[in-house]
Amino acid sequence: MKRSICAVWICALLILLTVSACRMQQPDPIGAQPDPTEAAFGDDTVEAIVVSTPVVTPEPLPTVPPTPEPTPEPTEVPITDPVITLIEGDSIRVPADFSFSDPGYFAEDYLGNNLTARIEISGEVVPYVVGTYDITYSVADDEGRSTTVVRHVEIVPVEMPEIVMPPEKTVYLTFDDGPCGNTALLLDVLKKHNAKATFFIIGNKGRKDMIKRAYEEGHAIGVHTYTHEYKQMYKNEQAFFDDFWKTQEVIKEQTGSYTRIFRFPGGSANTASRVNKGIMTRLTKIMEDMGYRYFDWNVASGDASGKPYTSTDIRNRVVGGLKKHSDFAIVLQHDIHLQSVKAVDAILTWGEENGYTFLALDLTSPVVHSEVAN
Ligand code: ZN
Repeated sequence: MKRSICAVWICALLILLTVSACRMQQPDPIGAQPDPTEAAFGDDTVEAIVVSTPVVTPEPLPTVPPTPEPTPEPTEVPITDPVITLIEGDSIRVPADFSFSDPGYFAEDYLGNNLTARIEISGEVVPYVVGTYDITYSVADDEGRSTTVVRHVEIVPVEMPEIVMPPEKTVYLTFDDGPCGNTALLLDVLKKHNAKATFFIIGNKGRKDMIKRAYEEGHAIGVHTYTHEYKQMYKNEQAFFDDFWKTQEVIKEQTGSYTRIFRFPGGSANTASRVNKGIMTRLTKIMEDMGYRYFDWNVASGDASGKPYTSTDIRNRVVGGLKKHSDFAIVLQHDIHLQSVKAVDAILTWGEENGYTFLALDLTSPVVHSEVAN
C-alpha cells in the first residue's frame, strides 16, 4: 500500500514537472516579442534579420475554353434532275457554211457528278441551208432521272460586200477550163496591154504554176471545178462541195489563199445537171448564202461551140458583144482554145481604141446571172 501511494505521488510529480516545462517553452504572447528593428539597430550582435518578401505565386489566369466550332446543321442536298448547260445558250445564229460544229455542252447530276459523256443528241442542222433547226440533248442519271433541253440553231446568210457599179465600158474578160499550155501566151498578151482578167480554173489540170503566175500578175482566180464531170459533180450537194473544195485547195496552194468567186461548169443555166432535179436552183442560193459569188456572162465568144471559129471570128463576136453591153461586160472565153487566146490581142487593141477598161472580177463586181434551168 505504501508503495502504491508512493507511485501515485511520483506520477503526480512527474505530471507537474512536465506541465511546468511545457509552459516555459511556449512563446510569449503577442506584444512580448522583441521589435526586430530595434534589435537590428540597437544591438550589433544581433545578426541581420532578413525580412523575406513572401513569394506571391500569381493566380493562374483563368483559361478561356476555346469556342467550339458550331456544328453545322446537316444540310440536305436537294435531289433534282440532271442539269444540261448549253455553251452559248439555247438559241444561236450561225452563218451558213459547209459544216456546223456545236458550240459545246455539259451535264451534271444533283451531286455535281459529270454526266456530259452520257448526253444523247438528236436533230440535224443542214449548215449550208438558211433556216432554223432544233438540236435536242438528253441525259439521265444513275437513278433514271432525266433532262432534255433543245437548242435552236438559226443558219443565216453570210454578209456580202455591196456590189459597186463600175464606170461604163468596163470589161471583165474571163477564161475557163485552164490552166494549160496556152495560158502563158495569154498572160503575155494581157501584160502587154496592162489588162486584167479572171481565170476560172480546173483543179486537176497541169500547168498549175500558171495559176500562181496569173495571180501574181494581178488577175483574179476563181473556182470552176476539179474534174468538170457534170454527172459526178452535180450528183448531189456534197459531191459539188467536194469538187469545189478540191479546187480551192489547188488555188490556195498556188496563191496562198482561198477564193470567193466561182463559175458553175456549164454556167448556172446548164441542163447537164438534170441528173439531179433542182440542184442548180438549190446550189445557186446555197453558195451565195455561204458567201461565194458566181458569175455567168453576157458576152459569149463562142470558142467552145464546136464551130470552126478563127481568132478573127472570135474577135468579132466579142467586139460585137462589147458594143451591146457598154455598161459592163463579162466575156466568156476558154484558154484551152488557142484561137480564142490568139483573139485577145485584137480584142484589147479594139477596146483601148474605144475607151474600154479591162478589169479582174472581185466580190464588189457587178454580176451576170443567167436564168436557172434546173
Ligand atoms: Zn468549163
